[in-house]
Amino acid sequence: MRAGFIGLGTMGGPMAANLQGASTALIVHDLHRQAAGRHEAAGARWAATPREVAAAADVVFTSLPAPPDVMAVADGPDGLLAGFRPGAAWFDLSTNSPAVIRALAARCAAAGVAFLDAPVSGGPKGAASGRLAIWVGGDRAAFDAHRAALDAIGDRARWVGPIGAGTIAKLTHNAAGAAINQVLAEVFTMGVKAGVEPLALWEAIRQGATGRNRTFDRMGDHFLTGKYDPPEFAFRLIHKDVSLAAELGREVGVPMRMVNLALAEMTETLARGWGGRDSRVSMKLQEERAGIAPLALDPASVRAVLDRDGS
Ligand code: NAD
Repeated sequence: MRAGFIGLGTMGGPMAANLQGASTALIVHDLHRQAAGRHEAAGARWAATPREVAAAADVVFTSLPAPPDVMAVADGPDGLLAGFRPGAAWFDLSTNSPAVIRALAARCAAAGVAFLDAPVSGGPKGAASGRLAIWVGGDRAAFDAHRAALDAIGDRARWVGPIGAGTIAKLTHNAAGAAINQVLAEVFTMGVKAGVEPLALWEAIRQGATGRNRTFDRMGDHFLTGKYDPPEFAFRLIHKDVSLAAELGREVGVPMRMVNLALAEMTETLARGWGGRDSRVSMKLQEERAGIAPLALDPASVRAVLDRDGS
């Protein structure tokens, strides 16, 4: 199996090195040749263009900044699409746009090439250590065929669904992470300005109900199963807590945009008469607005995932 790798930056550099470490013959390309120094020193072949990479490889990986960069590598007389042979596969490890991905997949399919979106999560440390999630969308057979290469890059390669599914998972994950960090910044500055020493505050909150849980695990109990009755923690009580926190923010003079937005949202939920339901019942409002059918997964299917993957 000959693999090509384009985009040897913060993430791509170490991912390509791990692929090479798993005895894969590698052909590499980047806008800047010095990015390939360590790979060439370890025996990788340099290609002057993406086309040359595609012509020499059975499978190509790209790790590029943004959708226009992926298009730049795909198109033109020196692009990947000009070099691929039928039967080849292209895994885009970049965080890309689902629309761009689907358009590229259709063009690749017409040339007999399997294009899969395969964004990664784990940061540069994960890229170096191999502790990296890879969320793949596209042809399942191509995913299975190149599983060994994916396993050389990350420890959690997962086929998520049809083309674009990996990227949708990645965008869901990163939007959640970013929004959570904004809220954490807000509430933590409130706690510090209200007078608690930062280390003591952090030590305390990481031991709380939210602190002890993996961020997404508790979604299984309520959001996925649609089970909000009887409450574990009544909605009117969490509404009271967030009202008190917003009040404290006002008292100590800390702007709390996200918390006040959450509070307005929660007040709308309360006005539905749902104060006696579980504290996560605002999801019901959002399901209505999103125009999706209420989620009602079998609790056994949720349990099976937690048992299989750990909680
Ligand atoms: P980066 O800017 O460090 O690396 C990108 C590399 O691509 C650079 O070496 C650059 O020279 C090369 N490149 C750009 N355009 C090119 C072109 N037309 N032809 C050839 N090479 C080209 O970026 P990064 O942090 O490694 O991120 C890569 C992708 O991974 C992004 O989509 C990013 O969102 C995603 N990602 C990043 C992280 C992270 O923590 N850095 C984590 C997960 C996912």
